Amino acid sequence: MFPENYDPPEFLPGTVWLAGAGPGDPGLLTLHAVHALRCADVIVHDALVSAEVLAMAPEGCELIHAGKRGGKPSPKQADISLRLIRLARQDKRVLRLKGGDPFVFGRGGEEALSLVRAGIGFRIVPGISAGIGGLAYAGIPVTHRDTNHAVTFVTGHDASGEVTGIDWDALAKGSPALVIYMALKHLPQIADALHAGGRSVDEPVAIVSWAATDRQRVLETTLGNCAQDAVAAGMEAPAIVAIGEIVRLRGGLDWLGASRGAILDADPLGSAWPGQTSQIG
Ligand code: SAH
Repeated sequence: MFPENYDPPEFLPGTVWLAGAGPGDPGLLTLHAVHALRCADVIVHDALVSAEVLAMAPEGCELIHAGKRGGKPSPKQADISLRLIRLARQDKRVLRLKGGDPFVFGRGGEEALSLVRAGIGFRIVPGISAGIGGLAYAGIPVTHRDTNHAVTFVTGHDASGEVTGIDWDALAKGSPALVIYMALKHLPQIADALHAGGRSVDEPVAIVSWAATDRQRVLETTLGNCAQDAVAAGMEAPAIVAIGEIVRLRGGLDWLGASRGAILDADPLGSAWPGQTSQIG
C-alpha cells in the first residue's frame, strides 16, 4: 500500500516514536505514522486517537490507553513518561500516539525530554493538528490573504487549568485570527476578555467539535453569543474555537457540506472586502 519510492526509517526495538495521528480521519495519517502503527510492539495512545486509527495496529500489538480527558481521572504525565521508558527498556518498539500533532499542546516535548534523560532513542512524527486540519474540515483556512496575515494558536487554559496566564488583552489587540484549543470550559471568560480588549461582539466565531470525524459538528456564531450558543447547541469537547474574519470563508469553502448538498458562496467575504473578488475565466 505504500508508494514504491517510500523508504521507511527503521523502527528500532528499544526506541520510542512520538507520533501525531491527526484530528481523526485516518486518511490524515502520515506515511511514517502508518509505518510506525504497523511495526509497533506496543502503542500508548491518547483518548483523542480514533478507533479507526488504532484498528491499523497489527495483531498482537499491545494497546495502552493513556488518555487525558478534561474532568476525568487520567494518568499523571510523569507516569506516562515512566511507562514509555520502561517499555523501551524491555526492548519494545514503543509508539506513543497522540491526537493531532505531538508538539502542539500535546506534551510531546515533555515526554521526549524524559526519554533524553533516560538515554532512550526517539523519533518525532509530526501530525496534522486539529487547529489547522480540523478547521480545514469545517472549510475554514487559518490564513487568507484578504483577512489575516497572522494567526495565533492558543490554549483555553494554562497548565493550572485556568485562563489566567494568557494575555487575552494583547491577543485581542494583536492577533486578527485566534484558534483556541481546549476552549469550551472557559469560553465565557475568553469571549469577555477579548471583547474587553476591543474585539467586536459581532466578530464571527466557529466552534468545531470532533473535527474530521463522523461526529463533526460546526456551530457558527459571534463573539457576543458564542458562550451561550455553545451551551444551547450542546457542543462538546474536543472542540476548536476559531475567532476572526477567517470564519466567514466557510460560506464558500465548506467542501464537506457541499459534498452533502450545501450551496457554496463564491464570494463569502462579500462587500466587506470589495477588492478581493478575482475574475476567473
Ligand atoms: N496535539 C493535539 C492537541 C491536543 S490538546 C493537536 O495537535 O491537535 C486537546 C485539544 O485539541 C482538544 O481539547 C481540542 O481543543 C483539540 N482537538 C483535538 N482533536 C480535535 C478534533 N478532532 N476536533 C476538535 N478539536 C480537537
